[in-house]
Amino acid sequence: MALIVQKYGGTSVGNPERIKNVASRVAEWRARGDQVVVVVSAMSGVTDGLIKLAKEISSEPAEREMDMLLSTGEQTTIALTAMALKQIGVPAASLTGAQAGIVTDGVHTRARICNITPKRVHELLDAGNVVIVAGFQGHTAEGAITTLGRGGSDLTAIALAAALKADLCQIYTDVDGVYTADPRLVPHASKIEEISYDEMLELASLGAKVMQARSVEFAKKFNVVFEVRSSFNKNAGTIVREETKSMEEVVVRGVSLEKNQAKVTISGVPDQPGVAAKIFTFIAQANLNIDMIVQNVSIHGTTDITFTLNKDDLAKARKTLDPVVKEIKAKELIAQEGVSKLSVVGIGMRSHSGVASTLFTALADAKINVQMISTSEIKISLIIDEASGPEATKIVHDAFQLGKS
Ligand code: ADP
Ligand code: ASP
Ligand code: MG
Repeated sequence: MALIVQKYGGTSVGNPERIKNVASRVAEWRARGDQVVVVVSAMSGVTDGLIKLAKEISSEPAEREMDMLLSTGEQTTIALTAMALKQIGVPAASLTGAQAGIVTDGVHTRARICNITPKRVHELLDAGNVVIVAGFQGHTAEGAITTLGRGGSDLTAIALAAALKADLCQIYTDVDGVYTADPRLVPHASKIEEISYDEMLELASLGAKVMQARSVEFAKKFNVVFEVRSSFNKNAGTIVREETKSMEEVVVRGVSLEKNQAKVTISGVPDQPGVAAKIFTFIAQANLNIDMIVQNVSIHGTTDITFTLNKDDLAKARKTLDPVVKEIKAKELIAQEGVSKLSVVGIGMRSHSGVASTLFTALADAKINVQMISTSEIKISLIIDEASGPEATKIVHDAFQLGKS
């Protein structure tokens, strides 16, 4: 008898018919004699709808109350899924994140899991039930409800698989695996059979929202092998696991595009020790997540510092940095919206050369201007104009011959 953790995302439980479809798929696994723990997301659109509702009450809703509100989305789905299973004769019981023993820190709206004591999950499984757990939520040691960041049901599934020492962890979604690019942007992208944690983590962090980045980080840390597959067909999906030697033979595994980026430049920064430290200390204190920091070569004792961040954080960044710009006697702060981050990812880049030249030649031939560049051992990221993002993704994808043959 195997213990299987299955996660069904928002689209897969998007309406009563789909919830019934999930129930019959779960029933098939259980009929094999396996124990099944099912993690579900809120029905598609529900979390966004709740956020919108909160914004109609307050422009800056209290984060504790946001978690109270958002956790109701998943709570609806666990009850409906358990009902659907009972309806077809399968014993089932639903649990909130707290009831499943998921304990987090107190950072509301993006809490981290501290530990899981899945005592009730085990008891209910041993009594013959399918156990349905609400994704995306937990509670603090003091009992406050928390959520795990957008897309956080992936994390619930992977963390539960680790805590329960599950034999299989399956992430069911609306695509039948991880593709070489988002199939919505590149329809001829091809399905990846196996991908390493590091590649999946980079792709997820750089815009491929098929997996929540933090969930992949967790899977890597606890070595949870998982499969991304479709709830709408029975095709084999993509296995995400530790890397093997043969994985390095592929130079570029995939391409991702992250929209909603902004670029901030502080110009005329005095070129002295301690100035960058001051800027980035303020950024850290404001809890701003920034990326791709570039400092120009100094001319006449001043330099420019540029970094990127999510467009939604731009107002906060301005508010934080305007006084700093004055204090360090820099010239000005220039903010630019309407940019995207395009990235190519592959562990094969460590041992193969020529990736940068293929990438830049393809973009140059298409007359797409590159505004910023950053690299790591297994990725190259570029900032480009938002309008050329989709076309650039296709061009780069094809330059590395990643499409279906
Ligand atoms: P769920 O609600 O099941 O969690 P998501 O909407 O969060 O599903 O993630 C699935 C979506 O991720 C797909 O519909 C697809 O458009 C998008 N996606 C982005 N990049 C990729 C990629 N490289 N491979 C597959 N899907 C991708
Ligand atoms: N419902 C949450 C969200 O929309 C969590 C999830 O779907 O994974 O972000
Ligand atoms: Mg998701």
